[in-house]
Amino acid sequence: MCQRCVSAIHYPALEAEKSSPILTLDTPINQLPGVGPVRARQLKTLEVHTLGDLLEYFPRNYVRESAEGAIADFHADQIHTVRGTVVAVDYITGGSRARFEATLDDGKDKLSLAWFNAAYMRRLLHPGDIIRVRGKVKFFRGIAQMANPKWEKIEGDEEKVGEDKFRPIYSATAHLTTEQIGALLDPVLDSAVSLLEEWFDPALLQKRKLIPRRDAYLKMHRPRNFTDAMLARKRIIYDELMLMQLGLGLSKRLRDGRLTAPLLRADKLLDERIRARFPFDLTTGQQHAIWEILHDVRSGQPMNRLLQGDVGSGKTVVAVYAMLTAVANKMQSALLAPTEVLAEQHFLTLSNILKDSSLRIELVTQRTKKESKGRILKDLTAGKIHIAVGTQAFLYGDVEFANLGLVVVDEQHKLGVRQRETLKSKGLSPHYLVMTATPIPRTLALSYFADFDLSTIDELPPGRIPIRTKWIKPEQSAMAYQFVRQEVEKGRQAYIVTPQIEESSLDDTKSVKTHFEKLKAGPLAKLRLGMLHGQMKTEEKQATMSAFRDGQIDALVATTVIEVGIDVPNATVMLIENAERFGLSQLHQLRGRVGRGEHESYCILLSPASTEYAEERLSAMVNFASGFDIAEMDLKLRGPGEFFGTRQHGLPQLKLADITQELDMLAQCRDDAQAILSADPKLSAGIHRQLREALQKQFGDAIGLAQIG
Ligand code: ADP
Ligand code: MG
Repeated sequence: MCQRCVSAIHYPALEAEKSSPILTLDTPINQLPGVGPVRARQLKTLEVHTLGDLLEYFPRNYVRESAEGAIADFHADQIHTVRGTVVAVDYITGGSRARFEATLDDGKDKLSLAWFNAAYMRRLLHPGDIIRVRGKVKFFRGIAQMANPKWEKIEGDEEKVGEDKFRPIYSATAHLTTEQIGALLDPVLDSAVSLLEEWFDPALLQKRKLIPRRDAYLKMHRPRNFTDAMLARKRIIYDELMLMQLGLGLSKRLRDGRLTAPLLRADKLLDERIRARFPFDLTTGQQHAIWEILHDVRSGQPMNRLLQGDVGSGKTVVAVYAMLTAVANKMQSALLAPTEVLAEQHFLTLSNILKDSSLRIELVTQRTKKESKGRILKDLTAGKIHIAVGTQAFLYGDVEFANLGLVVVDEQHKLGVRQRETLKSKGLSPHYLVMTATPIPRTLALSYFADFDLSTIDELPPGRIPIRTKWIKPEQSAMAYQFVRQEVEKGRQAYIVTPQIEESSLDDTKSVKTHFEKLKAGPLAKLRLGMLHGQMKTEEKQATMSAFRDGQIDALVATTVIEVGIDVPNATVMLIENAERFGLSQLHQLRGRVGRGEHESYCILLSPASTEYAEERLSAMVNFASGFDIAEMDLKLRGPGEFFGTRQHGLPQLKLADITQELDMLAQCRDDAQAILSADPKLSAGIHRQLREALQKQFGDAIGLAQIG
């Protein structure tokens, strides 16, 4: 590292003004002073193309430059900074290593300095020079000394560094050091910052305790102290999150404003009729969700609601209520499940609830015979079928509805944009209700899912006994199987889940088939065992599921096919083998298959848990019962990107903000963004000029701001 660069960073005023081109934030970097073609190429690898990019190339950290002290106050093994006069120099070639030595006098005491293998120092440092040095202090025979200290010459009567200083550290590359990046930015920082316009109302900034935009960028790169850096960070994170919330808000407004959806009304009479079909009273949470849904579907704009509730919270009933409301308004409904097994179960539930009503419900799966499928599709087109149940594939196939009013998607996080486009191309804009048992942590609800309205069922139906979760090591598996036998003797049933069959997997011992045989020949020989896995034919799967539901199977050895939605209240044991191979949300889903009836239920995790990450997940399972806690934990362990398996589309990359850490600010930004958009829906006010440009850059056409200047 060259000493001159350091002083260039600290004392930009000393750098002569090189040239004064008219700068804008879009000025290409190669037009900046000191940036030739080589530098420009190096900067491009950092995604820095313009002055604006350089300004937003934020330090990843800061180092503290400590205040200048006196030699008398030095402590051994501490880093100190001091200024003084060089009173003697010497170059020593004998001994083990050549070194340049100097003696520094701070006016009271002396400090001995040594630079090893530094013949060049002979040219740079001379008696009489006033320098500042910084390094780790050692004492040798009572004399303070520093080896290879950092140093710089003091020019003129430069002020003493009275307090600790902060120097920015930029993410560097092999060709571009942090000092070089700093040195490029430094001469243009002031002019670049002066190009920034404040884009939020001072009153808002005051309310949120934020510093002005220009200040923030200056302090980000040149903080005087830690507080400066924190304040800068806070303001810039706020802006990042605001851009995100404004972008989401604008695109939602654009979408809502364009589409219309059928008006669905409900009155007291209908409400009573629907409720009478349920064998229980609705919980407050269910009731609440229903109100929110009814409010949406009578608005004339398409509902886009995410219903979240822990496993077993009774989401199906809410969906049934919504579908019956649609039917009462002479509209058709479709209920879509992620698997055929689940579609079948929903069909059974619905048929049960709607026993002896005049409504027609049909199930369409791959198993549906060709001729009956043809008939069903025809009747759907003719409007003779009121509710269609199927997997997602069905809805997006060659089906035509007479008047589709509501689509309910079960156990799905996000309805694909593509699927929605398919429906739109068929001239349909139904209401959407998406249900998920993986609760969306609030951070994600406010960001990635911001275009959904969110309903939450935050309670379980009354009388549920909490599930007991235990984690045991494989050596104790005999105990686990004995426990399964005991429960079966009491008349209960069990699930035994093994990791997915992997054809290429070398470790096949735990695959469901071999494991099934092992249990059958060994510890569970006396039980009626069933097997369920993804490679079975659909008919076989359905038959096995029905047999289990009817109590003809005591224990079901299965893969995660049973993960979602299956509802067999008599099952009280969920035994998960090699539990470390499952994700946290998946484990929670599996656990949710038990504890659905009046009997106490158990989840047993069999695992050696050899890694720390596995251990954290299993401990979380033992310690947390609520899906909300589990989801927060999962998000923390995995990070938002992986939380939903795929990267979400269309959302800006956040440079500084980590949404899992900024929950409060995210919530504030949602409110602030809404307030701004209500007052200035097109952001046409003067103060919003740069804001509009920034949004346009990030979101493009999706937000409908292009037409304004
Ligand atoms: P999930 O939210 O996991 O989809 P389900 O809709 O499958 O939950 O409901 C779980 C179980 O709770 C079902 O057996 C259902 O009949 C029952 N249930 C739902 N609502 C209530 C209620 N209000 N009171 C009692 N039991 C209920
Ligand atoms: Mg469900």
